[in-house]
Amino acid sequence: MRTFEQLYGRPAEGEWAAPGRVNLIGEHTDYNLGFVLPIALPQTVRAQAARRADGRLRLWSAQSDGPVVDLPVAELAPGSAPGWTGYPAGVVWVLREAGHPVGGADLRLDSDVPGGAGLSSSAALECAVAAAYNDLYGLGLSAPELAVLAQRAENAFVGVPCGIMDQMASMCCRPGAALFLDSRDLTMRQVPVDLAGAGLALLVLDTRVKHDLGDGAYAALRAGCERAAALLGLPALRSLRPSGLADALGRLPAELVPLVRHVVTENARVEDAVARLDAGDLAALGPILTAGHASLRDDYQVSCPETDLAVEAALAAGAHGARMTGGGFGGSVIALVDAAAAGRVAAEVTAAFRAAGYAEPRTLTAVPAEGARRLG
Ligand code: ADP
Ligand code: MG
Repeated sequence: MRTFEQLYGRPAEGEWAAPGRVNLIGEHTDYNLGFVLPIALPQTVRAQAARRADGRLRLWSAQSDGPVVDLPVAELAPGSAPGWTGYPAGVVWVLREAGHPVGGADLRLDSDVPGGAGLSSSAALECAVAAAYNDLYGLGLSAPELAVLAQRAENAFVGVPCGIMDQMASMCCRPGAALFLDSRDLTMRQVPVDLAGAGLALLVLDTRVKHDLGDGAYAALRAGCERAAALLGLPALRSLRPSGLADALGRLPAELVPLVRHVVTENARVEDAVARLDAGDLAALGPILTAGHASLRDDYQVSCPETDLAVEAALAAGAHGARMTGGGFGGSVIALVDAAAAGRVAAEVTAAFRAAGYAEPRTLTAVPAEGARRLG
């Protein structure tokens, strides 16, 4: 299969990058309009791009072994773009649906964000394309506006009912900081996270498993939360504070109780984590992460044996705290560790995986990096 470059050369108008992310705390809170606290990874999806005057969208990715896909932008509609091309084509479709005067482009994509690992390669892909189109067509849209459009592409074009966290993280994170985001109104604050200064490191352990039940289960969990909010007469579960939790749980059918308990306690854990970061006590994040994992495992039930083992092995190796990150059913675990112990913790988690007969996890170190930007 010939590459884009072999066929047409590199698209030369410019290059844009958008990062993957890990979320420190606040999982399954975004679609309940609550708080999240992601950081951007140094790993990015990059788009080399150029406008086309003939209304064609030509897409190629170094991470796909397929051919260049060539689509007429005027005929884009949900279902019209095959496989992975739905993410970039969805962004172009959403821009046009929103009335922005955009036409065709050549997009040559490359990435070092592990795909399907809970590190949000999909949002990185959308945001790289959104940032490229914003500049190529002089749209002047802000980073949050682009994030909302990218989310709409994933919801309405690709058909994944995700919340806003991944796209906001990829567009708006800053180096050295976590993004404290209110998903209800998109107010945000950059919270400094000086891991190195505190002698700490954040390990990412990609379990390399993705369990199939994830897609349908995500939509079912979201629907359960929306039903609970409606039964409680609330616009979203975010409006329920911990002080009202016990009373609210008593008014819900049993199957919704653990869902609501997770969302309300998780939202409070984000506020707690931000208070610890503001106080400069980074190690205090550890127990908050571990409590978050227990809630995702026991109440929300989106963990799996591999992520549970990664968390347990990291804690046994001396991590301050650990939890799964991303939607669940596999994917990655983050572990807050002493910088000097990072190699040993990674080795002990790897040994535990080997002993359990699992494939070895892939290990990254998360250094809070920059959101979407033009490279050249
Ligand atoms: P995550 O966002 O956690 O990585 P998803 O399942 O949401 O997992 O998104 C992964 C999908 O995104 C891949 O299956 C692929 O369709 C698409 N994708 C991500 N990065 C790339 C890339 N560089 N090239 C092509 N497709 C990509
Ligand atoms: Mg994704």
